[in-house]
Amino acid sequence: MTLFTCANCRQPLTGDLKEARPQRDTEKRCGHRIAPPRMTRGTYAISHDASLFILHPDDVPGTVPHPDHGRRNGCCGLDGQDGPNLVCAACGSEVATEQSDCWTQHLVALTAAKVVGEAEFPS
Ligand SMILES: [Zn+2]
Ligand SMILES: [Zn+2]
Repeated sequence: MTLFTCANCRQPLTGDLKEARPQRDTEKRCGHRIAPPRMTRGTYAISHDASLFILHPDDVPGTVPHPDHGRRNGCCGLDGQDGPNLVCAACGSEVATEQSDCWTQHLVALTAAKVVGEAEFPS
């Protein structure tokens, strides 16, 4: 199991997660409908270039919305096209980008350079 913390202040950003494959995005998008989350809760995946950790949108309790409204554009949700839109709840570091709009995938992407993955060993 892995827990992600803020690289700046070490506040936990997630709960215990295990690595898994993303769900296939097979659904045809029509109208203003938000896609099902790409990851199931409690799991994460590493992006192709290892720059991002992909999570379920409800698995980042240690983050808060970015205070700059310009980062939080979207139609039905957040399109995540304007840079990171989630910050560390403790220090405000820009740690993640949520995509949850009707034309995007539905996920949260932690920026690998801004977080630390800590292995949690069951006791
Ligand atoms: Zn929409
Ligand atoms: Zn922090």
